[in-house]
Amino acid sequence: MAATPVSRLQALVRIPTITIENETDADFRHHDAFIAALEHLYPALHSTLEREIVAGHSLLYRWPGSGAADPMLLMAHYDVVAATDEGWEHGPFSGDLDGDVIWGRGTLDDKGDLAAVFEAVENLVTAGFIPTRDIYLCIGHNEESYGTGARQIARLLEHRGIRVALVSDEGGAIVEGVFPGVADPIAVIGVSEKGLTTIVLTVEQHGGHASMPPRMTATVRLARAVQRLNEKPFPARLGPVTVGMLKALGPHSTGALRFAISNLWLTKGLVRVLLGRLSDETRAMVRTTQAVTQLSGSQSHNALAERATATINLRIAVGSSVAETEAHVRRAIRDPLVGIAVVDPAEPSPVSATTGDAWEAVSASVAAVYPGVIVAPYVMLAASDSRHFTGISDNVYRFSPFRMTTEQRGTLHAKNERMNVSTWLDGIRFYEHLIGRFAG
Ligand SMILES: [Zn+2]
Repeated sequence: MAATPVSRLQALVRIPTITIENETDADFRHHDAFIAALEHLYPALHSTLEREIVAGHSLLYRWPGSGAADPMLLMAHYDVVAATDEGWEHGPFSGDLDGDVIWGRGTLDDKGDLAAVFEAVENLVTAGFIPTRDIYLCIGHNEESYGTGARQIARLLEHRGIRVALVSDEGGAIVEGVFPGVADPIAVIGVSEKGLTTIVLTVEQHGGHASMPPRMTATVRLARAVQRLNEKPFPARLGPVTVGMLKALGPHSTGALRFAISNLWLTKGLVRVLLGRLSDETRAMVRTTQAVTQLSGSQSHNALAERATATINLRIAVGSSVAETEAHVRRAIRDPLVGIAVVDPAEPSPVSATTGDAWEAVSASVAAVYPGVIVAPYVMLAASDSRHFTGISDNVYRFSPFRMTTEQRGTLHAKNERMNVSTWLDGIRFYEHLIGRFAG
């Protein structure tokens, strides 16, 4: 049977490129197979674009353009988070096609994006299109673990003195029902992403038998610290990106929301409180969030812990900083016997422009493929590889050009991840349009 766009995406989903946590001496058989499959499935692209392999298994393609304007860069990653068959209607690496739905890990995150970009480029190369500026494709192999592939590609381009005029990566999507009072679908385009850091709380004490515990054991002191932190959430703030998002939604909203948005000068405090309460998602939009993800104590059920630790995953609001976050945690815990260590801090990303050619190209491509969809900037809550590119580009946009239901978005990193064929085909057209508009 002749290959089709859908059969190619299915083939890519079937290769279990699960992200590798420790790459030293790791088995990269599936990653190698994936790279080989790309060569096989997209021959025109591979005969025209130059390819470099970076950091072992990440790919940097360059499509030479006819002009010297700063290039555009399209990003995606091909590693996926692990999945077992349990609880899936179709296996995570089945790539099953059932009606309008392609099933499998990576269909949304992020092989769907990757394959849509490759389909678009393959089509344009085949049609004889020559871009007016260089186009890079940056394909990461470890976004879900360390992101070192994309980081090294960013450094490489920086080292070569390249500024990028437009970066596109995974992120927002076309969503519905996130804001009550807004009925139309919204294309949310990430113009920044939150910072993140891990903070480890540690309490140490002399061990001993659990039959003669002191009044305050290490574990109790730790629990008290966690409780104090939990009782003191970070303050809500309505930053400029969220205000921009509300202004974009305003004309399309109804009732109280419309009034609130069109009178933000008056209602800002109210809207901040409202977003802080509406859902976990809108709550995370207006503040730094904290999640205690790991707790550890004694190895033994009848020995006191000599060392008790809690790991807190923090996502830092745009406008705040790692230092401010650490200070808040110290103030909330107010206990000098609780050690506080900041691990792997990353500041929030700079905010990309919502005016100018690059922004216009993205929003016009949404309008061309999805007429009637509202375009709104937002702060991406999760982290993406694109944050490594903010040093060489002022226009970094995080957007996956697909319609996703709330339920589907819940399958990211979870069970039953799946993509609708119709919207995936529209996504290919989005990338064709974006390239034509910005490099045509
Ligand atoms: Zn991803």
